[in-house]
Amino acid sequence: MSRGLDPRVALGPALAPGAATAVLEALDRLRPVVRVEPNASEPVALAAAGLYSLLMRVHAHTSLEGDASLGPNPWGVARLYELPDRLATSQPTAASGPVQDLIIGVGPGAAGADLWIGGADWTARVGRVPQPAGGSSSLGLQAAAVFAAAEALKESLKAQMIHVPLGDELVWNLWDYRNQPAPETGAAQCFLDHVVFFGSGSVGSSAIGLLATQQNVTGRASVVDPDTFDPERNPYRYPAATGAETGAKAGWTAGLLRAAGWDATAYRTEVAAWVRSQEGPGVGGAVVSSVDTVSGRLQVADALATTTLSVGVSGMALHIQREHCFDDWACPYCEFVSAATPLSQAQVHSQMTGLTVERILQLYLGDELLSAEDVARAVGAGKLHPDRVPELIDRRLDDLIQRIYAQAVVGGQADPGVVTAVSTPFVSWMGGLLIVAELVKSAMGATLVDRRVDLELSGLPLGAVSRRSRDQSGHCTCHSPHRQRWATRLYGGDRTL
Ligand SMILES: [Zn+2]
Repeated sequence: MSRGLDPRVALGPALAPGAATAVLEALDRLRPVVRVEPNASEPVALAAAGLYSLLMRVHAHTSLEGDASLGPNPWGVARLYELPDRLATSQPTAASGPVQDLIIGVGPGAAGADLWIGGADWTARVGRVPQPAGGSSSLGLQAAAVFAAAEALKESLKAQMIHVPLGDELVWNLWDYRNQPAPETGAAQCFLDHVVFFGSGSVGSSAIGLLATQQNVTGRASVVDPDTFDPERNPYRYPAATGAETGAKAGWTAGLLRAAGWDATAYRTEVAAWVRSQEGPGVGGAVVSSVDTVSGRLQVADALATTTLSVGVSGMALHIQREHCFDDWACPYCEFVSAATPLSQAQVHSQMTGLTVERILQLYLGDELLSAEDVARAVGAGKLHPDRVPELIDRRLDDLIQRIYAQAVVGGQADPGVVTAVSTPFVSWMGGLLIVAELVKSAMGATLVDRRVDLELSGLPLGAVSRRSRDQSGHCTCHSPHRQRWATRLYGGDRTL
């Protein structure tokens, strides 16, 4: 590997790679063991595969015990025992030897575990005793896998990270997001006519990878993302990846959908460019937004979609929010309005990076990548450690600024000199689960989330949903009279969603 820094961590940019040593050793002192029950059903086996995929990217000594046949999955393996070899490229190099096992039983028939996961179509169960597992879909079980992976991180970093550990048992569901079992709905065959994925990064690719496991769901999809896969960093953050991916992220993820029977098209372009290429204004069907930049969120709001499912991630916290362009609740951009006007945002980024305001605007508005001179300037200004240069040339400005996306922050405030951030692929997997749960509900004609679910995966789910009103300052794009006229023309009579 050409760079000095372990790909599982991001550091405050002024730190040398060695600053992460204690955190990496803590991650690798724990050996998580995924132990699947004998004669596991396909949903249970898929949950074991998901759990293994989440753990092995973070904890180098993760192991898998047991075998079972898998249904369709994003890693392209037929049986569970094939998975470790398939994911070998995404396995980090151990920083220390293991000293403590954490055995996670998948299914009630797994013997001698420290923690068990179970559940059903929509319900997730995690506990210190065997948990029932059933159902015909693996969504609830996959959510249980997320909570178990979060427990492994809390256990290994308990000395370094503020967290709330699991008690004896956790029950939560993806149907109404309460801390109780969900009704069993079965898995009727359903078709989603046009899902547009704006973003196929860690969250978008997780949603697509999970959709590909749902044998009762097919449809038509467009995947819009200008980025290319970064084989040096993305495998440690993308649970659906094998590590062998190259080229456009949109091409990879659209391919996963096609392999699962979908009619899917990849667009390697910005959201705004895709919107401009459409025949008319507005986007029907469902838009899934997992873009991770402020300018991207503005482009999503400008798409004037009937229904947008927006997922946002900040550290180990994440949310999904349903938005409609014709109502009075928050739009995809509302919560970013108060952040700043574009110029003052550029001034903040200038101070953070040592680049000039003009150069910041050029990088954002011109969709340019960081040059060697940009990165050298950040080093010269004392904002970036010289050893960190290779990982940032030809990357986006956001990579320099937003290195703590979907990562647990360890050891301090958001000061570039003291923060270590650890990749947490389970946060992305949960984002994907929230998206798939809402898409399946929409295909079933069931009630969607009203309007927002927030989860903090360093803690435990609160079992509640909330609503955010529209931006009150009047500065958000959703207040534009031109836009409101279009929304009324496009969807005027349809307020039943
Ligand atoms: Zn708004």
